[in-house]
Amino acid sequence: MQNKGYKRMELDIASPNPPKANILLIYTGGTFGMESSADGSLVPFDFSKVIERIPVIKTFDLHITVVAFDNPIDSSDINPDYWNILTEIIWQEAKTHDGFVILHGTDTMAYTSSALSYALNGLHKPVIITGAQLPVSVPRTDARENLITSLEIASAKNKVGKPIVPEVCVFFNHYLIRGNRAQKVQSSKFDAFRSENYPPLAEAGIEIKYNYAHILSTKGMEHSHSLSWNTDVAVLKIFPGITQTVVDSILMNPSIKGIVLETFGAGNAMTATWFINSLEKAVQREVVIINVSQCLGGEVRQGMYATSKLLQKVGVLSGSDITMEAAITKLMFVLGQQKSFKSTIKQMLTPICGELS
Ligand code: ASP
Repeated sequence: MQNKGYKRMELDIASPNPPKANILLIYTGGTFGMESSADGSLVPFDFSKVIERIPVIKTFDLHITVVAFDNPIDSSDINPDYWNILTEIIWQEAKTHDGFVILHGTDTMAYTSSALSYALNGLHKPVIITGAQLPVSVPRTDARENLITSLEIASAKNKVGKPIVPEVCVFFNHYLIRGNRAQKVQSSKFDAFRSENYPPLAEAGIEIKYNYAHILSTKGMEHSHSLSWNTDVAVLKIFPGITQTVVDSILMNPSIKGIVLETFGAGNAMTATWFINSLEKAVQREVVIINVSQCLGGEVRQGMYATSKLLQKVGVLSGSDITMEAAITKLMFVLGQQKSFKSTIKQMLTPICGELS
């Protein structure tokens, strides 16, 4: 069992100016702070070494508190226990901090940014998740620019002192993206993240240009602080030739309560009777099934083609333009609230914080 403890420390700031914001920087691990181990593979290193690499941080007009995981992780090891740790830290520190920056591995960043967008809905403060494709110790690293701009965005306030971006976002390679719209699309180039169905919330060039019209409005949003996730969920990605045995191993599994069905194009799937029957039986057992497209962009439109009309008929929900990452984490979040089947369905179809149009 991995030690999930963390240390909290205040950074000594060298700037002579009074701090313009209080920022909490959480270091979870990821390539950002990795170095080569004896066998040549990359392993995460301690946060104090990260600061040694970017000493300029200490000259910012910011008061920065750092929370660093005792055992930084590769984000492939992230799970709901870690989302709860992050959620608890942020809620505990919310009163005394203007914004939050989370350093996180890129591999599962889009899952964490989606999950935290639901768990921190109602926080109304910037939570900027970032990382890097190259470790901070490498001369051509993208870590420096990603962290520095994230700190600036997390501390940005409007004329009346309110945060400009009061939502969970991913900042990467000059773009700020809504957290529950982000997807990792690149494993080797610097532009690792995209939001195909929603415009970026900001672009960092010579200056940071905010896309005010698309930033989440905080009006009328409920405060939620959820720490229960139901992990009895699965993703069923169909492909031509998929067998009934494979499909039924998921649809007929009695412990599974929610499924993201990854379909073709605008939400189409095969029309074989065995497939439709299995879906229908699962829905009758109150399994929540949500239809999400395998395409990066566009939306599911059940009923547009005859091949998706059948899905609609047996009670598969349309995921509209939600990403797979946002859909599977939303299923865990909504099922975790243990509401009735009817109200779970209603919540799945209604946006919580901008994850679907
Ligand atoms: N494997 C790393 C991680 O997700 C990759 C990265 O950070 O870019 O932790």
